[in-house]
Amino acid sequence: MTKWVYNFGAGVNDGSAALRNLLGGKGANLAEMASIDLPVPPGFTITTEVCTAYYDNGQSYPVELQAQVSAALTRIETAVDRKFGDKDKPLLVSVRSGARVSMPGMMDTVLNLGLNDVTVRGLETNSGDSRFAWDSYRRFIQMYGSVVLGVDHHRFEEIIENAKMDADVIEDTALTPAHWQQVVESYKDMVAEETGKPFPQDPHDQLWGAIGAVFGSWMNPRANVYRRLHDIPASWGTAVNVQAMVFGNMGDDCATGVCFTRDPSTGLNEFYGEYLVNAQGEDVVAGIRTPRPLSQAYAKPGEVSMEHAMPEAYAELNKVRDVLEKHYKDMQDIEFTVQQNKLYMLQTRSGKRTAAASLRIAVEMAESGLIDRDTAIMRVNPASLDQLLHPTLDPKATPKLFAKGLPASPGAASGAVVFTADEAELRAQKGDSVILVRIETSPEDIHGMHAARGILTTRGGMTSHAAVVARGMGRPCVAGAGGISVDYGAQTLSAGGVVVRAGDILTLDGATGEVFVGAVKMIEPQLSAEFGTLMGWADAARRLKVRANAETPLDADTARKFGAEGIGLCRTEHMFFDPARIGAVRQMIMAKDEAGRRVALEKLLPFQREDFVSLFKIMAGLPVTIRLLDPPLHEFLPHGAAELAEVAQALGMDAHAIAERAAELSETNPMLGHRGCRLGVSYPEIYEMQARAIFEAAVEVGKTGAAPVPEIMIPLVGIKRELDITRAQVEKVAKAVFAETGTTIEYSIGTMIELPRAALTADSIADAADFFSFGTNDLTQTVFGLSRDDAGKFLPHYVEQGILAKDPFVSIDVEGVGTLVRIAAEKGRATKSALKLGICGEHGGDPASIAFCESVGLDYVSCSPYRVPVARLAAAQAAIEAKRAA
Ligand code: ADP
Ligand code: MG
Ligand code: MG
Repeated sequence: MTKWVYNFGAGVNDGSAALRNLLGGKGANLAEMASIDLPVPPGFTITTEVCTAYYDNGQSYPVELQAQVSAALTRIETAVDRKFGDKDKPLLVSVRSGARVSMPGMMDTVLNLGLNDVTVRGLETNSGDSRFAWDSYRRFIQMYGSVVLGVDHHRFEEIIENAKMDADVIEDTALTPAHWQQVVESYKDMVAEETGKPFPQDPHDQLWGAIGAVFGSWMNPRANVYRRLHDIPASWGTAVNVQAMVFGNMGDDCATGVCFTRDPSTGLNEFYGEYLVNAQGEDVVAGIRTPRPLSQAYAKPGEVSMEHAMPEAYAELNKVRDVLEKHYKDMQDIEFTVQQNKLYMLQTRSGKRTAAASLRIAVEMAESGLIDRDTAIMRVNPASLDQLLHPTLDPKATPKLFAKGLPASPGAASGAVVFTADEAELRAQKGDSVILVRIETSPEDIHGMHAARGILTTRGGMTSHAAVVARGMGRPCVAGAGGISVDYGAQTLSAGGVVVRAGDILTLDGATGEVFVGAVKMIEPQLSAEFGTLMGWADAARRLKVRANAETPLDADTARKFGAEGIGLCRTEHMFFDPARIGAVRQMIMAKDEAGRRVALEKLLPFQREDFVSLFKIMAGLPVTIRLLDPPLHEFLPHGAAELAEVAQALGMDAHAIAERAAELSETNPMLGHRGCRLGVSYPEIYEMQARAIFEAAVEVGKTGAAPVPEIMIPLVGIKRELDITRAQVEKVAKAVFAETGTTIEYSIGTMIELPRAALTADSIADAADFFSFGTNDLTQTVFGLSRDDAGKFLPHYVEQGILAKDPFVSIDVEGVGTLVRIAAEKGRATKSALKLGICGEHGGDPASIAFCESVGLDYVSCSPYRVPVARLAAAQAAIEAKRAA
């Protein structure tokens, strides 16, 4: 018989952390905590397999489930000496969802289940606390009503507001037991009216209703969106946890809280968290009352930390902190409740953290011997490094402060104000930077938070939904900016008399919590010592070299600073667009014959030489791959009549002739037209000029410092003869320059592999090449027969529908494009075993593509300068994974 239900706590632990897939993260960790003797209220987990079976069988449960749940419930009753539905000593439980990975969007927890008109009296007598009993009951109806029965939560809030008005009090806490009893009656009436049925009184009906709602929530739109964003298959299912209640709302010796074993923003090894006295469940996260700091280290003047208010319970919790970190060997995110000074653990999981915290924690844990270096390297998500490498506000800027909130997720961002997640998504798709402004966020807002550059909320604490999600996504966030009032209707936010409207620019500093009106100057980030340490470990672990795609001295400098080991792609045409040169470029294109072209090229030569001199100086001693002219010539042509006339005048030609030549150059499909080495074959003088600029620059730089190693790359080769011809052009120039200068430098000549024909005939092409660089942008276009610039019309849809798992321009299509890369690599190396292989293009900075490059044995990846650290870390992870798999 299948085991559908697993017990935990009170001495019986059927599960463990290893059963995460079966029990969900929450259930597995509850069992694990209980098994290492931490104080976990007893309960049971209904497995994720039940969820799967439920959906496979027309939303019905396995037959044995009822009996297994019933037995598990009896075990809890015995353990806590209370009975479900008992009029004197009623057992109350929580019902909680829990998938394999923590997933906002799932059903919210229902607390105090088991209360009804009879058991509430039992609880009242039993606890001797009427306020507590009726408060618990009204909380239960409220949670169950909104979460399970789908009643709008505003309806409940209205009733409380009315009760407070009637009682003439301001705070909830001022309501008497009699008031709460009245609230309960109004709640029940309202629910009956809304749902057409009385509020369920039978605890078993309540329980099965809640279980059904958890499984139902697995397929709700919120959960579906989250799964899509995070590549979580629907087949994983969610588990349901049913657990005996403990109470944080029984008085001032009770509390509830959320904490992290280390600071999730900075990674500092300090106990970090928030708690509320005399509160229950999600009060801390919901931001209804403002929570207080857990430890004294984080208390501001006037704030009472838990460390001071409840020293015993705090000491106990601090011990648990230590036990959990040693046990899980990772920073933990913990939920706890204190009932009459006794601590109970309700959840632990590895804590979400910022990139900075992730680095610091990994490095400090490795240095203290808790984990090894490989593990530390694997702990940091390469893509998250992006957060650290991006700008922060310039401290010299003196913007006018608009308001201040909590520094919920670091980083700075400027953008236009939007008030809804949909609007954020819409405008971001159009390329706008937006700041999403909300009173508070909820799981429905995830897509908008993702699309926004930054998030601002006016309510909630450091562990509010907005804060947690923003940190996970790496979006700057200022939360709980209570000084700002938001008016969704008028589409404005205001503070201190200043009004900001939708569309106005706002700047957030997520590291300080400050909000400014207008754009603020930003500066390059300062990298921490831990960053350097971890990157050092990564460099020692990786096999792949990492280079950068760079043309300008600024980019090359940035790349070096980030640890690039050379340039993998220098696109010479980028140098042609400079206003000082474009005239000569256009003259070259317009020339009627070779002689005319040579005159123009003569003018370009010194410019190109200068470019290469500065690049070579920055990249002293490192390889620099220079791609000769690639795009179709018409890209450089003037656009429109005015520009045409201007060029005509500058060149002393008549506008008519220019227009005619432009028409001649225009192509139906330029991407597949007269470009790349095809230009080199037609107009040898172009590549000759570029080669001369390269060699003259290399000789010049070599005279005073380390000689660069130019790698001259011929683009778009599909036929070996193309490479033979262009290679000969370059070699001829090299000989000439070496003879003229009396100096010889080392260089090599290779090609990009970006056409299927090149890949398929790589063995023959390798004869004429010293290296291959896979131009995977064009290779993806040519393998799919798909133009990237036009793909926007359908590609996102393909990804959404799962026709393609990922956008192949972001992450290499291993199955198709990857196969061709593999074939070309093998064929190339069969001809020339020392053939150097690399990849350039967007994929060079994508961790999944880098793992692929490792698996086919490329020598290096090349990516944009800011991605270099990402690539170094991803390359190290790929190497470690390969080592572990071997
Ligand atoms: P989430 O997945 O949103 O964190 P949880 O299932 O962890 O939801 O429940 C949220 C909160 O409800 C917990 O942090 C805890 O404060 C409270 N809670 C859950 N179960 C119990 C229980 N058995 N006794 C007391 N409080 C509980
Ligand atoms: Mg929740
Ligand atoms: Mg929780």
